[in-house]
Amino acid sequence: MGWSIGWDSNWQRDIGYGVPCTCDHPDCSEEIDRGLAHVCGGEPNGGDDGCGLFFCCAHLYLGVEGKERQVCERCAAGGEPFEPKPDVREWIEHKLTCPTWQQWRDEHPDEVAKLEEAALTTEKSNG
Ligand SMILES: [Zn+2]
Ligand SMILES: [Zn+2]
Repeated sequence: MGWSIGWDSNWQRDIGYGVPCTCDHPDCSEEIDRGLAHVCGGEPNGGDDGCGLFFCCAHLYLGVEGKERQVCERCAAGGEPFEPKPDVREWIEHKLTCPTWQQWRDEHPDEVAKLEEAALTTEKSNG
């Protein structure tokens, strides 16, 4: 099994390079994906160094003292992680409509209801 789509039990969201998202930096709206290239800490869930949130290249720092991997500005400073951003509408719609998610939809009617609500309130991304 690759790292295309997985589940982050820490932040309760889908992760992997198959998942489009917005950079978790509060001042940034860069569109990225939740692949290893963008994760703070360089590992799913952040490993030992990071918070496991996802950032664009401008908001990940390599070579921070005491950190072996890329980390976000909060982890570099030893602070609390940023607030994770909600899923992008593109991803929500994918989960609601893609045939590969049919089984998941059948098994998680509550989650589907939440997503349908989120789809109505989430702004469409520019991509
Ligand atoms: Zn971090
Ligand atoms: Zn960013």
